[in-house]
Amino acid sequence: MIIRLGKSIAGMQGENRFCCPFCMIFGKDKDFKYHLYVNIDKKVFHCFRCGVSGYINGDGDFYLKGHNGEKYATDLFSDRVDVDLSQYEKTMPKKKQENNQEDVYNVLKYPRLYEVEGVVGKIARKYWQSRGFTRKDSIGFDIRLSEKDSRIIIPVKDLHGTPVFHIGRAIDVSMNPKYFFSKGADKKNYLYNLHNAKIYNEIFMFEGNLDVVSVGHNAIALMGKFLSKGQVDQLKQTSIQKIYLMLDSDVGKREMVMVKEQLRMIVDVRVLDPPKEGDMNDLLIKKGRDEVNKYLKDCIEETS
Ligand SMILES: [Zn+2]
Repeated sequence: MIIRLGKSIAGMQGENRFCCPFCMIFGKDKDFKYHLYVNIDKKVFHCFRCGVSGYINGDGDFYLKGHNGEKYATDLFSDRVDVDLSQYEKTMPKKKQENNQEDVYNVLKYPRLYEVEGVVGKIARKYWQSRGFTRKDSIGFDIRLSEKDSRIIIPVKDLHGTPVFHIGRAIDVSMNPKYFFSKGADKKNYLYNLHNAKIYNEIFMFEGNLDVVSVGHNAIALMGKFLSKGQVDQLKQTSIQKIYLMLDSDVGKREMVMVKEQLRMIVDVRVLDPPKEGDMNDLLIKKGRDEVNKYLKDCIEETS
């Protein structure tokens, strides 16, 4: 059988993104948001929703990792189609539609990280401390814990401090995915920790949430490598005048210039180099908080 992949959109670095047909086959709801990333040059694929991954042969056949190496022919390299996926839709259990409001409610239902007793709480705090963080950091960033999922819950809030969605970080290295975004998470349109950083004149901007926790309330995270119009609009509503931008070292020059130019329309921007240890959290883990502060201070002195 040959599965229709449908139309694709361009992803980063030569990838094509398709609405994942495997999501339905493996019991998830139908994917409308192009979660299947296909790299035709490298002949690999991965779905960020149902988690399937594997390699592609020259005929466009997808060989799945796991699932006993099952093979699914696709129309990637031919016009031949077509398998009716609606048979899978019928077998899907009807799921209650959760909306954003319920998620917001849920995040506040999770207990705070240091208030959880029992084994999971202990393991989670051990993980938290292994990242160089303290109890105070957990309170400052309202970090919570889902005992059921064994995940540290990082709430993302809007400009007014109202939770809009949350990120679940696995506390065990073997857990997949490492990061989980709550349903309906609109990460493109928010900047992590902007509700705290908005009162400062000068702030730091990083890619990741944990970089921010490593630095403090005067930092925000893009939660990605791009800056959206929604994010720019939120920045405009603050008194921030200067941003020290530090993206991870794997960021392409083009992406860096794009973010920088967008920011330059509204604030003074300085680009800082990431530390040789990796990102700010790597530096925190290896050298401690004083070195994090010193590194940033030295960087700022160099740029001014
Ligand atoms: Zn999928």
